[in-house]
This record gives sequence, structure tokens and C-alpha cells, in this order.
Amino acid sequence: MPSFATSPGTRDILAPDSARWRQFQQVFADVVETAGFAHIIPPMFEDLGVFLRVGESTEIVTKEMYDFEDKGGRRVALRPEQTASVCRAYVEHRPVTPWKVWYAGPNFRYEKPQQGRYRQFDQVGVEVLGVDDPQLDAEVIALAMEFYRRLGLVGVQLSLNSLGDSGDRDRYAAALRVHFSSHIDALSGESRVTLERNPLRVLDSKRPEDGALIAAAPRMADHLSDAAAAHFVAVQSSLRDAGVAFVVDDRLVRGLDYYRRTTFEFVSTSLTAAHTAIGGGGRYDGLVADLGGPDTPGIGFALGLDRTLLACDAEGVFGAPLSRVEVFVVDATGGGEAGLICGQLRAAGIGADRAYEQRSMKAQMKSADRSGAPLCIIIGDDERTGNTAILRTMEGGSQQTVQRDDLVMQVRRALGR
Ligand code: AMP
Repeated sequence: MPSFATSPGTRDILAPDSARWRQFQQVFADVVETAGFAHIIPPMFEDLGVFLRVGESTEIVTKEMYDFEDKGGRRVALRPEQTASVCRAYVEHRPVTPWKVWYAGPNFRYEKPQQGRYRQFDQVGVEVLGVDDPQLDAEVIALAMEFYRRLGLVGVQLSLNSLGDSGDRDRYAAALRVHFSSHIDALSGESRVTLERNPLRVLDSKRPEDGALIAAAPRMADHLSDAAAAHFVAVQSSLRDAGVAFVVDDRLVRGLDYYRRTTFEFVSTSLTAAHTAIGGGGRYDGLVADLGGPDTPGIGFALGLDRTLLACDAEGVFGAPLSRVEVFVVDATGGGEAGLICGQLRAAGIGADRAYEQRSMKAQMKSADRSGAPLCIIIGDDERTGNTAILRTMEGGSQQTVQRDDLVMQVRRALGR
């Protein structure tokens, strides 16, 4: 028989990590729902056209899309990100603005798998549609920082930039094209290809041979319209008011073509691998119109769950939650009593587990140990006939005999509840 393993770039998330993932999403939900965001669950695949708006010059679209024709002849793609889906949903449902939504779930990009880079990876994020106020930009950014704080992360650096309005961005791209083209011989082969597609992305190059040319390149700040420049100043001032530290990095362009004005990235200072960006976002004021809707401003961010957890590991924070099993029931009388007691405890909201197949007392005690439960209940023949139970603390091994009728109360007491 053939045996199978997961596809490259995908993983099974097993316990206790799986519980940590859920907790991650729960903490995020708590932070953003307190700020008035409502949950949206977009589909995992959509018409390819929705995602082409992410940018036909980005690798996400040109190289990494999981697109295919379905059995009905429709050209669809697994979502590489969720902002485009949210904007498509906005156009489809026309909710009242400001529309504040959050999401959590997997995205798919055909990338070269490595540590912190997967083909199926999870993000949590928010989007706000219909508001152009720079105070909102600052609030959205502060929300992400608050989430990191709740996780216990301290080494998160915020980089901020403005990409201007679409006219500014085009003029800046043209200036970069002139600059890099006039020094084309000094540019790496890779960046020459990038230059053809998208001059802004050359600024992203980490190749040492490109460093000097990038340092000498024209600056976005000199190409901002008055309106975009004023917006950027106001965002920075609101961030200062909110006590959010940031650095302005006018080389920050981000991978998606739809960004306008405010863009930002969160970098973990605890990660030493190549992929230290744990989240990012920005304004995308043209995207809704690009998807056939009315002119609508939008801003949001997406935070990479996988990489953020690597940062948590590096900082030794936000560990996997403890086992939910609080009591392990060891039954030497055949298992029927264990079934009854587990049912009773679970109905009372107490986590309980047991062994099966009439295993030996020793084997059951081993399972109790492995379960992580702080307590175990032991039922032998004497306890069954006497309608009692032995309640034992796993650490230290102190034990007492209690009446079966009092069992739930005694367990609660032993658990300190
Ligand atoms: P993006 O949607 O490209 O702006 O990415 C936002 C965040 O998602 C990044 O900062 C990463 O933390 C995470 N991310 C993006 N692509 C991947 C990937 N292939 N594997 C793991 N995390 C990713």
C-alpha cells in the first residue's frame, strides 16, 4: 500500500500546538471585537479575477497562485490573502460604512517552503472600509500592537511609510525606473527582472550588490502629493499621541500592488531567520473600485500566525495551553465505573478522561500521568462495593477516600474551584 505524507509547504498542526493556534485566534478575536470589529469568513477559493487585483506585477499573482479550472469550467484560485476577498464581499453586500471586519484562516501561495515560509499559512487580520481618517490608520496599527502585547511579545518593531496616491506612486515608479535603468550594469540579474515588472520592488532586494544603488535611489517622500503628505504627517502624530513607537522607513514598499498612502510592517527583533516580518498592512483606497464597487477607502493588516508563533517561541512567551483534562479516572473494575464518573464530571464542566480495554492498573496510572491531569480518581473493587472513590493528586501522590455522592464537590475543592 502506498503511504502518504503532507505536501511540501503544508503541515499537520498537532496538539499541543493546535490548541495554541486556537488560543491565538481567540486572543485576536478578543482584542478586535472589543474594538468593534465583526467576524467575516470569506470562502477559501474565488474567481481568479478577484485575486488578480492583488497586483499583476506581484509574484503572488504571477508565480504563486493556486489557480485551476473547476469542473464547471470556472477559473478559480485558492486565496493567497484575504483583503481582496473582503473588498469583493463589500461590493457584493454593500454593508453600511464604516465596515469593520476581522478574519482568521489559511491562505495559499506556491512559495519555496522553508522555516517560516509555507504554502499553506494562516493569518489573522482586520479591514475597515469607508473611512479616510488618518486617526483610523493609527488606531488600526495600535490594535495590532495591542495584540502583540497580549501575546506577551516585546520585540516587535513597527516600520511605517507612505506610498502616496496612485498618481504619486506611478510618478515615483517612473523615477525609480530611470534611476535603476541608468545604472543597469551595477544591478543584480534578479533585480533587473524585477525592474521590468515593478521598479518599487527593486527596493526590496536584499542582494548586497544592489545596496548602493538602492541607497542612492529617489525617495518616495519627495514624490508625495500634498494631500498624501499631510495624511502621513497626521498618522504619525496620532501614533505618537497613542504612544506607539515606530520608525519611518521610506524603502518599505510591501509585496502587494494595491497599497496607497499608509503602509506598515511589523518585524520581530527576536527572529534571526530571513523572514522576520510577522505582519503588515496598509491603505488600499483603490481596491474596492478596482473590483467594480464605488470609490471606497480601505485599510487593514494581516498578521502571519505561523511566524508570530515562531517569534513567541524565540521570546519564550505564549506557550501551548495546558491539557484540559483535569481528572483521569482509573477503573480496575472493568471500565463501567470510569464511564459513569467521566460522564458525571464532564456534565459538571470538569475535564475528565479514562483508559479503555481493561488495561492493568499500572498501565492506567501511566495514562493518567501522560494525560497531564492534576488529579486522578481510582476505583477498585472495595470502592465500587462501598460506593466510594479514591481521589489522588498526581503530584505528591496524597490521596483520600471520598463518598461517591460527594465526588464532584470534592474534585472541585481539590481543583481549587
Ligand atoms: P502579506 O499578506 O504578504 O502582506 O503577509 C503578511 C504576513 O503574513 C507576513 O508578514 C508573514 O508573517 C505572513 N506570511 C506571508 N506569506 C507567508 C508564507 N508563505 N508563510 C508563512 N507566513 C507568511
